[in-house]
Amino acid sequence: MNIHEYQAKLLFTEYGIPVPPGKPAHSVKEASRHAADLGGEGWVVKAQVHAGGRGKAGGVKLAKTRAELDEAVKNMLGSVLVTKQSGPAGNPVNCVLIQGISKIASELYLGMLVDRGSRRVTVMASRAGGMDIEEVAATEPEKIFTFAIDPILGLQAYQCRELGFSLAMDEKQRKQLTHILSRLYRLFTEKDLSLIEINPLIITTDGDLEALDAKVTVDDNALFRQNALAEWRDPTQVDEKENFAKLHDFSYVALDGNIACMVNGAGLAMATMDIIKLHGGSPANFLDVGGGATKERVAEAFKLIVSDKKVKAILVNIFGGIVRCDLIAEGIIAAVKEVGVNVPVVVRLEGTKVAEGKQILNNSDLQIISADDFTDAARKAVAAATGA
Ligand code: GDP
Ligand code: MN
Repeated sequence: MNIHEYQAKLLFTEYGIPVPPGKPAHSVKEASRHAADLGGEGWVVKAQVHAGGRGKAGGVKLAKTRAELDEAVKNMLGSVLVTKQSGPAGNPVNCVLIQGISKIASELYLGMLVDRGSRRVTVMASRAGGMDIEEVAATEPEKIFTFAIDPILGLQAYQCRELGFSLAMDEKQRKQLTHILSRLYRLFTEKDLSLIEINPLIITTDGDLEALDAKVTVDDNALFRQNALAEWRDPTQVDEKENFAKLHDFSYVALDGNIACMVNGAGLAMATMDIIKLHGGSPANFLDVGGGATKERVAEAFKLIVSDKKVKAILVNIFGGIVRCDLIAEGIIAAVKEVGVNVPVVVRLEGTKVAEGKQILNNSDLQIISADDFTDAARKAVAAATGA
């Protein structure tokens, strides 16, 4: 789960990581009051959306006067911001962060994330921070420094110093970096985060480090024990399909392809996506409907799948272990009728009462293609999606 920049900065402040002074606002009036409270010779207005790349999309505006501030806030609030990261639909701006203007000498990148390869929290940093870190990673990877944190030993001071030298920092800045990294690591572990990204981490004209931007992702699997963070969930920033999935307790991830998958069990769902790829197709989603795939749940899952306009075919891959295949087959037929599915549905059933289940599917007058096994199912789904 992602949180807003202003929320991430509240966490930073709680942990002693320096950020510019700022406050969130939901109206022009509130923004104006914050600007008065902050004082200074200008403000930055920042759209609070769960997508980076706001700077280049008009979601970060400097205002020198109160009139300019009002104008920027008025334009941003209620608008939909489309950035490189938001996808074409964009994200609604319901909140802006009003922040004092920082004097920037240089912009660095600092990130902390779980590296699944080494199974460690890993620090990434670069002198070439600011807006185009993805391009730096692609074209000049030598400019990015990384190190892993040993989970038993924890973050070591020498690692911080070494990074400080790599980033050409002076002694004061290296000390500040060590402080920031140790606080970030505590924040990361105590709050069960999976990502912290500070882009840019700036060196101010006074030579101090400051987190100008803040992106924080919380591990979804830990939300049950991070109640305060869970309350920050903002459904307006999430794909509607993912909200629907959460409501019905489906494990669902939207993907770019056109073959929708409905599977029971996460492992089988992963294998289904793999085999679709193997046969030249591309999955539209990951969907695990769970162990108790009842008729009602199958219907809800179909609703979720067909709300995705990219979908050209549906592959249902269900193993009848706890549930019987004949009941699943009846559920599929009922769901297809109820939801009004108008793309081909390929069904592969296996397990208890599979013969009866297939019989039921074959006898139905719906556009359901029965498959004998995994490979057969993938081939048929790919063929159906390409109209072959
Ligand atoms: P992003 O584009 O969504 O990543 O938004 P950022 O918060 O990173 O802001 C984008 C860019 O706006 C930064 O890289 C800075 O160059 C600029 N910016 C943001 N805040 C300030 C500020 O307080 N002062 C100045 N001078 N520039 C800022
Ligand atoms: Mn940024």
